[in-house]
Amino acid sequence: MKVELVKRPIVLFTLNGGDSQNLANFNQCDCACASTPCPTLTSADLTGPWRVAANAQTFPLPGDWQGMFVPGGAVPLAVLNQPAYQLWTRFQEPQNIESLQLEENETLALNELARVGLLQTASILLTPNSQLLTRTPHLLTPTSPLSSWLHLTDRCNLDCAYCYLPHLREDMTPATARAAIYATFRSAVKHGYQRVKFKYSGGEPLLRFPLILELHQYARSLADQHGLELDEVVLSNGTLLTDEMVSDLHSRGMRLMLSLDGVGEWHDVQRPYVSGRGSFNDAAEAVELALAQGLIPDISITVSGRNAEGLPEIIAWVLERDLPFSINFYRQNDFSIGHEDLKLEEEQIIAGMMAAFKVVENNLPERSLLASLTDRANLALPHARTCSVGDSYLVFDQHGRVSKCQMKMDETVTDISAEDPLSLIREDQRGIQNISVEEKEDCRDCQWKNWCTGGCPLESYRATGRYDRKSPNCAIYKAIFPEVLRLEGLRLLEYFVEADMIGMEA
Ligand code: SF4
Ligand code: SF4
Repeated sequence: MKVELVKRPIVLFTLNGGDSQNLANFNQCDCACASTPCPTLTSADLTGPWRVAANAQTFPLPGDWQGMFVPGGAVPLAVLNQPAYQLWTRFQEPQNIESLQLEENETLALNELARVGLLQTASILLTPNSQLLTRTPHLLTPTSPLSSWLHLTDRCNLDCAYCYLPHLREDMTPATARAAIYATFRSAVKHGYQRVKFKYSGGEPLLRFPLILELHQYARSLADQHGLELDEVVLSNGTLLTDEMVSDLHSRGMRLMLSLDGVGEWHDVQRPYVSGRGSFNDAAEAVELALAQGLIPDISITVSGRNAEGLPEIIAWVLERDLPFSINFYRQNDFSIGHEDLKLEEEQIIAGMMAAFKVVENNLPERSLLASLTDRANLALPHARTCSVGDSYLVFDQHGRVSKCQMKMDETVTDISAEDPLSLIREDQRGIQNISVEEKEDCRDCQWKNWCTGGCPLESYRATGRYDRKSPNCAIYKAIFPEVLRLEGLRLLEYFVEADMIGMEA
């Protein structure tokens, strides 16, 4: 039996958590997702001298495929077959593409190499520290959404070990909630946003379910009135979910994010009811209720020192059901500080993550996990800030006060009566400062900076007293990022390489 490898160069890559056709696939996250929206890659203009991106790194993948990490690229990873790799190495010295005698399929591959950033123009390389958009001229960034967190209640029926809320018996009134939505639209219109996103949160927002439906209707009418896109997600523990709620959410096009930190005991040790009883069975049932009606919930998994060992099991659980998910590392807060065993011990977390990655490798999903496996980092798209705090994010507490981050609702900037709360949030110089990774002295020279951006600013501040320092999880990130890229390379080969691309049996 003879296997003949195809000769045409092939370049595979993932764009924004999906394939290159899937530009609108945003992962949900449990706070303010990175503010950079999904990029669009245009065709490269191949005129002029080009050469290889000097800092690209290769790693082996099965067969004759090479994984390539592109630190300053439009995507972090490209997977090349040997003909594509050899074509790329012809540009070790600057070459004028027009002067080469290239086959049509080679020109197409060169275009892809240039689009992802593996080839760069010689003139661009003269300014290695220039901004991302200068170095990857084919990356266009459409406008990001304006997101609002609506803290519908501070109450909750669970008593999670890492919760940052005091759980006061306080609800947001319908009038305040409507005013928060109206204030969001005022800012969105004033600042020219095309998309508005509401996160119905708490506390447990399903305690206020009739209000959620009422607010949806109001937000829908304002979105239609202003010609804006509307995205809504309910962030819930799932335990109060019913068939009727699923039907209501699904029929209105609303999304659902459920928290699930492990299977059985691994979940229960972090997320018990107020009575102390575990909540896993009810949360898992909520997933099945949603799936039964075709509502695919996003799963938020919080990893701490207490449940890291159970990570492989919950990853297997969500992959078995083909659910989108995100792994978030525990963030210490004033209410959780007494739980010493929640702390992230580097070796323990890395071991748990690596064991979970083995599970992923044996059950490669069709959807990309570039934005799912890395806490607040996002390997799916280059960005400069970890989240949209201080830029395109409003947090409304139960009294209608506006702050920058849901974990710092006590640092109030303004309230629902402000004509344009977003301007006041952007201008505020106090409290949390969500600075660009280029301004973080520990991070600006890091090869992962465009994907990690230094982690949650609150976490950096808690650990160092400064916002311009790297994340306390930096060592964990650096250990897991290469493995996430390798998994993505394997996934691309699994789902996007057709038989004739790998070889032919003769
Ligand atoms: S936190 Fe660490 S991995 Fe992330 S950008 Fe900063 S130095 Fe790099
Ligand atoms: S500052 Fe941290 S906790 Fe707050 S939204 Fe940003 S990443 Fe999330």
